[in-house]
Amino acid sequence: MSNSPNAFETAQRQFDHVAAMLELDQATRDLLRSPQREYQFLIPVRMDDGHVQIFRGFRVQHNDARGPGKGGIRFHPMETVDTVRALAMWMTWKCAVVDIPLGGSKGGVICDPHNLSARETEQLCRGWVRQIARDIGPLRDVPAPDVMTNAQDMMWMLDEFEAITGGRYPGLITGKPLGMGGSQGRKEATGYGVVFTIREALRELKMKPEDTLAAVQGFGNVAQYSVDLLTQIGVKVICVAAWDQSEQKSFTYRRKSGVDFKQLLEVTDSFGGINKAKAIELGYEILPGDAWIEQDVDLLVPAAIENQITGENVGKISKRVRLIAEGANGPTSLEADECLGKRGMFIIPDFLANAGGVTCSYFEQVQSNMNYFWEKDEVLGKLDTKMTAAFHAVVEMSKRRKVGMRDAAYLISINRVAQACRDRGWV
Ligand code: NAD
Repeated sequence: MSNSPNAFETAQRQFDHVAAMLELDQATRDLLRSPQREYQFLIPVRMDDGHVQIFRGFRVQHNDARGPGKGGIRFHPMETVDTVRALAMWMTWKCAVVDIPLGGSKGGVICDPHNLSARETEQLCRGWVRQIARDIGPLRDVPAPDVMTNAQDMMWMLDEFEAITGGRYPGLITGKPLGMGGSQGRKEATGYGVVFTIREALRELKMKPEDTLAAVQGFGNVAQYSVDLLTQIGVKVICVAAWDQSEQKSFTYRRKSGVDFKQLLEVTDSFGGINKAKAIELGYEILPGDAWIEQDVDLLVPAAIENQITGENVGKISKRVRLIAEGANGPTSLEADECLGKRGMFIIPDFLANAGGVTCSYFEQVQSNMNYFWEKDEVLGKLDTKMTAAFHAVVEMSKRRKVGMRDAAYLISINRVAQACRDRGWV
């Protein structure tokens, strides 16, 4: 987050590249390369020891031409307005590539939740809403949990919004607990969505799942459910990598006979950290943290954090690897992406591969607005339909324009948003 290249500059460079390919007019470029609206505000919180601490909060609404903004709220000590701007922009493209009627937003607060009590966190959540309540809403901009925010935080935010507006508006926010307006299938949605696109990519590449070996980075929410569904469709996952908080470094956990999702989950903490001693007992070899990238496999799934495949380690990727599915946001640096492009690697880009999360959040919003909730199978079935359709649209664009999957996904998204701006008469 802090030491990576300025995320907003990267987002703008990616946009400029595709805007040129689309030959967009200058007004449309000016409109789409920056956020439509940005809010920065101060949130006073009376801390447990009695003193008042002032926190800085953000909400950035990049574009809402296709529908109300959608995007998470991050609580992080290194949060910057540029990170929030970039993430808001990427949300616009993510919602557009899966063709859901939402725009792109993001929010954040500079704070470290590790150092906040539950009461202080509640005050911060309520304070964030008090500052922005007039400019969010089920039909304007719909927040969600993100880095270091959770379902409880969303409930405090919803409650504050309803206290201010005097009604019940469960569609204000997503990521709510089940039974309080949350959706079935949300915890599986991102990982399963990644695998729906992998399943289609394997068909495209004429690879059989049962002959496919995979290496996964991460064992948190996205990676866990990716491993779960990959195994169900017949792919053998031979390793996962995870961060070890006590040793302050990552390790790769390999078992050549295949990772057992349920068994490994039992020795994994709520942050996706794996208990090393217990993993050894279960027959896993402990390898260095970056060993996942050099395994002799057909498929790599980086599903941990940003900037993991770089100019320095891209050369270590085995010649056998034909497919990379980006479960994490921004796992591949621009330099590595160029190398992989020259190698003809088939990449399912992040904002397509991990769009299952926001798609299910959209389903949550729809269900909340209707006040009628679907069964899990119905949610996951609808998710499969959306992800599969989006994947094939991107493949078709990639073939038609003779570009890689990332550029193809951007071409679709940016074109859809630009068209919505034209349809509204904004440009
Ligand atoms: P998480 O916090 O649940 O899990 C992160 C995992 O990565 C953990 O297993 C952790 O041990 C591991 N990890 C962290 N640093 C590592 C390192 N240096 N080397 C190896 N492993 C490391 O997070 P998550 O929700 O699974 O999200 C993972 C990625 O997917 C993030 O980039 C996130 O922005 C993106 N994403 C998540 C969702 C979602 O719905 N959860 C949706 C879209 C995108």
